[in-house]
Amino acid sequence: MRKKIIAGNWKMNKTLSEGLSLASEVVNMANDEAPSDVTLVLCTPAIHLSQVSAIAKDAKTVFVGAQNISEHESGAYTGDLSADMAKSAGASFVILGHSERREYHFETNTQLAERVKLALAKGLTPIFCCGESLETREANEHVEFVNNQLKESLFDLSAEQMSQVVIAYEPIWAIGTGVTASSDQAQEMHKSIRTSLASNFGEDVAEGISILYGGSMKPANAEELLAQPDVDGGLIGGASLKSRDFIDIAKSY
Ligand code: 13P
Repeated sequence: MRKKIIAGNWKMNKTLSEGLSLASEVVNMANDEAPSDVTLVLCTPAIHLSQVSAIAKDAKTVFVGAQNISEHESGAYTGDLSADMAKSAGASFVILGHSERREYHFETNTQLAERVKLALAKGLTPIFCCGESLETREANEHVEFVNNQLKESLFDLSAEQMSQVVIAYEPIWAIGTGVTASSDQAQEMHKSIRTSLASNFGEDVAEGISILYGGSMKPANAEELLAQPDVDGGLIGGASLKSRDFIDIAKSY
């Protein structure tokens, strides 16, 4: 059985006090009403990590994640966050390679390969993001494009390492636009990702990896997307900023 994961990516939203209120609401609702077989992850801004982690300790199903880490262990990298720092602040997950980081901070597949390895070595579960632009999809090159992202950042891992990675397929054209991929489009790509993982790491590893969908997922469309056989959860942006919506997405699983 693959792990079902609903992760919220708060991005650069919420002051510290707002974030702590949101986390408390999510924890209370998770205890009262969220399904016990769905892992919830709050990927908060770095400054919130330690206090949100303390709040999350009150719920069995709620974990905390960072939104990025450096590929360097420590040193003169002003403004960056190390894996050890994230871990010491209570994170157990880390988003890597989000399309916003790739676009605005020019993160490359090679750099992300280093971050994935470092995260694993430090005991953080990477949520590795992949996904194509509208232009790439319209050129019908989306499958190849995503495969290449996986190949350059992940295919160098051992099967043992790979089995600890979570993948998030987030088509760029669906992020923050209100346009989601249809459930067929999501399933097609998730299946293709799993097939590609199977050919590189073997069927058993591929079958165990959770592949999340991200891009305008909300309570109204979550059920249909999450019902797809290769969709194992969601990476939620906007709708994770409202505790009710976030929990309702988990409940629609
Ligand atoms: P939205 O849910 O706001 O489209 O964002 C998705 C996303 O980028 C999650 O990482």
